[in-house]
Amino acid sequence: MVKTRLVFLGPPGSGKGTYAQRIGPRLGIPHISTGELFRENIEKETELGKKVADLIKAGNLVPDELTMAMVEERLAKDDAQKGFILDGVPRTIPQAEMLDKMTAVDAAVNMDVSDDIVITRLSARESCRKCSKIYNKLFLKPKVEGVCDVCGGELYTRKDDMPEVIRDRLKVYYEKTAPLINYYKAKGLLVNIPCDRADAPIPEMVGKILKVIQ
Ligand code: AMP
Repeated sequence: MVKTRLVFLGPPGSGKGTYAQRIGPRLGIPHISTGELFRENIEKETELGKKVADLIKAGNLVPDELTMAMVEERLAKDDAQKGFILDGVPRTIPQAEMLDKMTAVDAAVNMDVSDDIVITRLSARESCRKCSKIYNKLFLKPKVEGVCDVCGGELYTRKDDMPEVIRDRLKVYYEKTAPLINYYKAKGLLVNIPCDRADAPIPEMVGKILKVIQ
């Protein structure tokens, strides 16, 4: 049976979002990115958005309770009842423990990439303002520069993808998030997906992930 309650782990720029955007529709399950949910709240200037905007801009983490309350609400929606891909959450051990109280997890898929690859990718990453599709100025160019292939929306560089913020986000990743690899390993849920090229072909990586969750 295909595993459908999935957590995608890996540093920023490891490709989790890019792969989740493709695998979610293939399996008929939603791709839930906490970063994306926060950015939507910031854009719409909601109460939550106002609370988290400065933290996110600086590459710091949003407090666990605030994050997991948002995740619990999202997981309660109809489309998440068959399964889900969590991208960017959990990001700390307490978040993983809170998630365990909300739902079972079938597998944690860890994108294993070096810092060099991460920095190369993030400094060229662009996202669509409207539909959030991820592009890369080096490896995954849109057909027309600055315009989303899917919805025609404007492409932009995230504020936290600026070189000075990328280093801080990696530091936060190693301190707070990397320990989750052992957390899920100890539960027998970890699957590792090695990636040794910044321009690793996306269909190949998607294929590898689909294979390990079957
Ligand atoms: P991402 O799009 O996953 O890179 O997330 C962008 C930013 O949103 C992160 O650098 C954090 O500031 C915040 N964020 C996203 N997910 C979480 C989370 N699970 N816990 C805390 N902060 C988060």
